[in-house]
Amino acid sequence: MSIHGLNKLTLLDFPGKVAATIFLGGCNFRCPFCQNSELVLDPYSQPVIPTEDILAYLKKRQGLLDGVCISGGEPTLYNELIPLIRQIKEFGYLVKLDTNGFRPAVVKNLVEEGLIDMIAMDIKSSPEHYALVAGVPTLDLVPIQQTVTYLLEGHVPYEFRTTVVKELHSEEDFRSIGQWIGGCSAYYLQAYKDSPEVMKPGFSSYTRAELEIFRQLLSETIPKVEIRGID
Ligand code: SF4
Repeated sequence: MSIHGLNKLTLLDFPGKVAATIFLGGCNFRCPFCQNSELVLDPYSQPVIPTEDILAYLKKRQGLLDGVCISGGEPTLYNELIPLIRQIKEFGYLVKLDTNGFRPAVVKNLVEEGLIDMIAMDIKSSPEHYALVAGVPTLDLVPIQQTVTYLLEGHVPYEFRTTVVKELHSEEDFRSIGQWIGGCSAYYLQAYKDSPEVMKPGFSSYTRAELEIFRQLLSETIPKVEIRGID
């Protein structure tokens, strides 16, 4: 496990909290719209931040920050994740995990050990198009479903979110997602933003008005659906 990024202060990554965000390299998915393609495809092209430096920063900020968001890449791929979070918790921080949900056992373990205060799980698409949108044609959906089911059971505060790409997501997908994760506590539609850092640049976003149609559709089964990342 290596840490390749530290956002020292964010009001966006951990809802309602003043937080720092740590970015771990590497991921088992290849979402073509991934904003962190270097971190996923070639993490060691990015500088490594020694864990001791991260911990020293967090120790200094005790009392000033509420929490730490662990993002990536995909953090749950690493066995060292649990000891890292233990150390962060010892400083008294709340911890949020961003995950693609592929390792339900890690998620469950973290929750059961009291190491996680919030989870944000990506819902890449409807089950029908999940593998395509995750960029892994042979993707096994069983672990994804296990994580979704575990979160829906309410063991820990969570949100689901989808980065919405015009070329990859249709109204039919959101109809299906609404059935799949219906009743979840919160679901966010995140507007895609194109940039040279994207894994396969050139996609586009729906307009706010188009996303609003999806939001209304999803609201039939999900009490809280919000749109992020577009005016
Ligand atoms: S978007 Fe997330 S899950 Fe997809 S490749 Fe990037 S880091 Fe991995």
